[in-house]
Amino acid sequence: PAPVLAIVGRPNVGKSTMVNRILGRREAVVEDTPGVTRDRVSYRAEWNGRPFTLVDTGGWDSQLKGMGNRITEQAEIAVELADAVVFVVDATTGPTATDEGMVAMLRKTRKPVLLAANKVDDERGELQAAELWSLGLGEPYPVSAMHGRGIADLLDLVMEKL
Ligand code: GDP
Ligand code: MG
Repeated sequence: PAPVLAIVGRPNVGKSTMVNRILGRREAVVEDTPGVTRDRVSYRAEWNGRPFTLVDTGGWDSQLKGMGNRITEQAEIAVELADAVVFVVDATTGPTATDEGMVAMLRKTRKPVLLAANKVDDERGELQAAELWSLGLGEPYPVSAMHGRGIADLLDLVMEKL
């Protein structure tokens, strides 16, 4: 079976935008896997000719009470089912309490985790991205899921871990 890459992060950081960017670039087949919950949606993807399964997480109602914990729980399940993880943080807002909760969970996993500092649409955001070294998850990779900036470099690194 193809290796599995999970995209995790709190709501609104740009996970689905990143997934669409990865799929669109390679014109991958979008495939609804039967039986998946709305918490995780799997797609067949490809990078440099190598197939992998790309898992978008989210789709839950972040307005509900106690959703912070549920989001982290669901991210944890996605991590357990994955071979590698991209953790997406919004570099323009910096880490929130929900991000910090996920960081604690991700620091415990033995799966490879890459930290994507998203919404770095131009060079001015690079400094904000560098501040995410403080999360203790290693090097933050500045990307713009919206514009595609840095996504190819990130995926090259991901494929080394998958
Ligand atoms: P998700 O909840 O993590 O899946 O986030 P979405 O992909 O739905 O994106 C949330 C919002 O952030 C949307 O309004 C996106 O257009 C915006 N967004 C996503 N990526 C970027 C980015 O790289 N730059 C900017 N400026 N906005 C982005
Ligand atoms: Mg989404």
